[in-house]
Amino acid sequence: MLNLQEQLHDAAEFMQGAKQIVTLTGAGISTESGIPDFRSPGSTWRTNPPVSYQAFINDAESRRKYWETRKSLYGQVSTARPNAAHQALATLQNRGVLLGVITQNFDGLHQDAGILPEHVVELHGTSRLAACTRCGARSSMTTLQQRIDSGEIDPQCERCGGFLKAATILFGQRVPEEELTQAREMIDVCDLLLVVGSSLKVTPAATLPRLALTRNVPLIIVNMEATSLDSRADVVIHEKAGLVLPSLVAMV
Ligand code: NAD
Repeated sequence: MLNLQEQLHDAAEFMQGAKQIVTLTGAGISTESGIPDFRSPGSTWRTNPPVSYQAFINDAESRRKYWETRKSLYGQVSTARPNAAHQALATLQNRGVLLGVITQNFDGLHQDAGILPEHVVELHGTSRLAACTRCGARSSMTTLQQRIDSGEIDPQCERCGGFLKAATILFGQRVPEEELTQAREMIDVCDLLLVVGSSLKVTPAATLPRLALTRNVPLIIVNMEATSLDSRADVVIHEKAGLVLPSLVAMV
């Protein structure tokens, strides 16, 4: 079993020659910014399962539950700042070796850290905007949250009457084809894939590293717990992203 320094050394060697690095990030990269992930022990999802898209559309009680859960999440996301891991990825971008970030996160922290919006693919949408479930119109999440906070129970679109929610993907909703295509195109040309803070249990995000492996692209995984692709990765580091990424980037 290698110690952390040896693992970092191995990972740095793989990254040394890479010029088209792609990272795939999950909720784990943002836990050190104060936004809990959903699957780790003790997280609210374990006791309080998420509302599915079907339930949201068909059931007023599910929409009430959705807004109740979002209240605390909105507070956490709106005050969160990028941490050392987000910043390390921005450093890679500024050195010209980061092709892009594919993220399962909706918190916008990669962009806040300085990653150019056109380099970020948000597979699961963004919680910074609201969206109508019927006409798709996007609007300000701040305004929508204010409506909820001032007592509105079931907010609807002023244009078409459809139900409003954050512009994120709920269970039972498909990842938009445009984002998925963009992500696959990045994977098709990257020369190294760095997975950070993803359990690799959520599809289709979890299929992307397998796509990279079909091209024998080096795969580095930084995650607190084991993932199903650990045995196929070139380097696996089970440590906090905020500890690993700055050290790794400094070594490259
Ligand atoms: P996930 O696949 O994103 O898993 C998170 C993984 O991160 C876990 O395996 C955990 O062990 C690891 N982790 C936690 N803290 C870490 C750290 N400091 N360093 C390295 N690894 C760490 O899945 P999930 O948490 O179950 O979330 C499901 C979906 O919900 C996500 O795909 C995302 O769309 C959404 N989500 C987003 C946010 C966000 O935007 N910040 C937060 C929670 C959930």
